[in-house]
Amino acid sequence: MQRVTGTGTEKAVPVMINLIVRDDVLLGEGAGSGWVEGHGPVPGDLLRQWIADNADAAVDTFVRRLYERPATGALVGMDSPAELFQGRLAEFIRLRDRVCRTPGCGAPIRHTDHVVPRCRDGPTSADNGQGLCELCNYAKEADGWTARTVPGLRHTVEITTPTGHVYTSTAERL
Ligand SMILES: [Zn+2]
Repeated sequence: MQRVTGTGTEKAVPVMINLIVRDDVLLGEGAGSGWVEGHGPVPGDLLRQWIADNADAAVDTFVRRLYERPATGALVGMDSPAELFQGRLAEFIRLRDRVCRTPGCGAPIRHTDHVVPRCRDGPTSADNGQGLCELCNYAKEADGWTARTVPGLRHTVEITTPTGHVYTSTAERL
């Protein structure tokens, strides 16, 4: 996905591209590939060439690098004192989760949800955030549903339904 971040008239339009890559791949010290939002995996040598080419391109290209932990494939987290997920933190969660976190749903993310709600002192953090589609978010807000994050190599949410079924949702490995 390319998001236009400005409306430059006389200047080239800046384009924001989200790129997730391990730092050793970015620096050319390790083998592997990166992941470009809206595109998919891109080989490391192609990424490095592409970043070098865009450094002095006519179009301002802002490449945001969200570093990945090599051992676990997890994105490094962020925290915010805000009550709502917004800005980079919301974007981070959307990139990490990619699609609605409800197992088997796979719909596009519409809401950034507090796993543990604010009214129960859930923090506005990457760990307590998850991307949900509209329907799943409303279902989760209904009576009898509870959710919490559980420790794991990657971000994992445990959901308990009104009938007592427990299931978990783990962010995809990058
Ligand atoms: Zn959903």
